[in-house]
Amino acid sequence: MNNLNWVDLIRDIPDFPEPGVVFKDITPLIGSPGGFSAVITDLVQQSPKAIDVVVGMEARGFIFGAPVALALGTGFVPVRKPGKLPGEVITTSYELEYGTNSLSVHRDAIGKGSRVLIVDDVLATGGTIAATANLIKELGADLVAVAVVLELDFLGGRKNLSEQGIDEVIALT
Ligand code: 5GP
Repeated sequence: MNNLNWVDLIRDIPDFPEPGVVFKDITPLIGSPGGFSAVITDLVQQSPKAIDVVVGMEARGFIFGAPVALALGTGFVPVRKPGKLPGEVITTSYELEYGTNSLSVHRDAIGKGSRVLIVDDVLATGGTIAATANLIKELGADLVAVAVVLELDFLGGRKNLSEQGIDEVIALT
């Protein structure tokens, strides 16, 4: 399946999760064997290869991040909503497109100086990625790049991330 075809598997859901928002639904894409495989192949091709660990955020970052980690031959570290990880965590708060939230990661999950790739489905305002980058920084690791399937340009996420010194942002579409 080529690039054009898998993009067509992302559908618009109007008025979700609230009126006026058009939500990009990736479930038809991941539900398609050819589409899922093709999008993972593209993510891997466009991502830097000198990576020690892939970090993905709950929940859709898990779906795309774990197969990318397997393909790159790295481990996968989940960043989760508070109260979900069983070990000692560090936590940061951030603003979402639709409210406020917090994210946690296990304190021992990423070694100092590790080269990290963040993978998520959608870059909207960039708040989720910026918060995750803060966690990575707090652990003394090195954020090499961010890879997302889809970027919502009009929400300015790339600019917001750049203002925080995060310039290596790969968006497939
Ligand atoms: P941001 O923090 O960049 O504003 O929002 C990005 C986060 O919210 C991502 O983790 C993503 O999963 C979720 N998100 C925001 N808008 C959408 C959307 O339209 N579709 C999907 N699938 N996720 C979204």
